[in-house]
Amino acid sequence: MKRPGPFFRVFLSTFTLATLLSMLSTGSAQEKPPSKTIKAVRFGKLWDAKGKLWTNATVIVEGERIKAVASDAAAIPAGAEVIDLSKYTALPGLIDVHTHMTMYTEETMSEPMLKQLTANPPAVEVFLARKGAMRTLEAGVTTVRDLGADQYMDIAMRDLINRGEMIGPRMFVCGYGLYITNTPYKLGLNPPAGGIADGVPEVLKVVRQQIAAGADVIKMYASTGTDDDVTGFQTYNFEEIKAAVDAAHKFGKKIAIHSYGPDGARDAVRAGTDSLEHATDIDDATIAEMAKRGTFYVPTIDHNRYYLDNWQKIGYANGFQEKTKAFLSRNLETARKAHKAGVRFAMGSDVIYTMFGENTRELGWFVKAGMTPEQALHTATTNAAELLGKEKELGAVAPGFFADFVAVEGDPLSDINVVLKNVRWVMKAGGVVVDKTQLQPH
Ligand SMILES: [Zn+2]
Repeated sequence: MKRPGPFFRVFLSTFTLATLLSMLSTGSAQEKPPSKTIKAVRFGKLWDAKGKLWTNATVIVEGERIKAVASDAAAIPAGAEVIDLSKYTALPGLIDVHTHMTMYTEETMSEPMLKQLTANPPAVEVFLARKGAMRTLEAGVTTVRDLGADQYMDIAMRDLINRGEMIGPRMFVCGYGLYITNTPYKLGLNPPAGGIADGVPEVLKVVRQQIAAGADVIKMYASTGTDDDVTGFQTYNFEEIKAAVDAAHKFGKKIAIHSYGPDGARDAVRAGTDSLEHATDIDDATIAEMAKRGTFYVPTIDHNRYYLDNWQKIGYANGFQEKTKAFLSRNLETARKAHKAGVRFAMGSDVIYTMFGENTRELGWFVKAGMTPEQALHTATTNAAELLGKEKELGAVAPGFFADFVAVEGDPLSDINVVLKNVRWVMKAGGVVVDKTQLQPH
């Protein structure tokens, strides 16, 4: 390359910062790293997402990674800090592949939440978002794929969390999602300042802009439909979608395509999208194609329920409910069909406003759609990790993986509600981020 573009500048500045930080913490970049703390976490049961349910498991954690998993206490190295969670069942840290972490709003303010989002300056929005981030961790979610934010607030938040300045789930972010002209982000509200692209050349440019800005994944809105609007008219044509998919893949990035309706879904799947978000009424040929290609389906059923429960606080106009209820049941029906046809799912909540903490309710819908609790758990662990391209370090409890765990009270393999309601303790990258083990009324 003749001219190092912004992509390289971002990379270089990140590298320099990381080097600087490591020099500051060790005194010199030449010195060997300080010895890492070793923790031994004991669980009554452990579902490792690799096909094994352990009894009396001990997980040895060194620094931010898992060193070993064993079933006897003798494996505990001398000097290790022992954390006894033998009353609980452990799962890998859960992954929510469709969030809007920056779009957190307060429920106590008199202003409708929809308006708060556009009224808050970006710095305020990111600062408030720490509350949603904490609730997300409390739900057992230690990693998210964030699919749409304004003004690169998602990149700022991801980096603050990675630097330890903010407590929250590990974030993989997309910057601006691609929109066509005249698809307002919300009718009457300001469209996003970036992300608008019409035609193949503009699509290529906007995809490259997101990657240059530091996006981990690309998001494209291939149909109308959001909030209380459940129309699913296709917005981008096949050529535009294909251009976005190929441009993302060329940079080693995955792409998530939003389509409420079947037309955008069909073209997204045949263009080779990595995941299809929301889609309802997907035709049989497209469902078969998804099963064949291994395209992940992220139906986001539960966010419709959230809108119906909270529409007044959000500020939707009365009268949308019938359409959203009908959409929700078609969404569930489509999920049932897709599961039966062998399509792979990943859990995405589409969490926004005050929904943070309800991220895993989606798993309840998956069980309603015909999955066993264990199949549902795979959508938030191994499947989600694969969709992120992180299947070798996230989504399972095994040596070398990040030390991300959730301890729940009860048996999640016989009742998925245990995951939704009984999270007691959460570890992310070797650090305890949630501990409610002392608070339990018995
Ligand atoms: Zn979304």
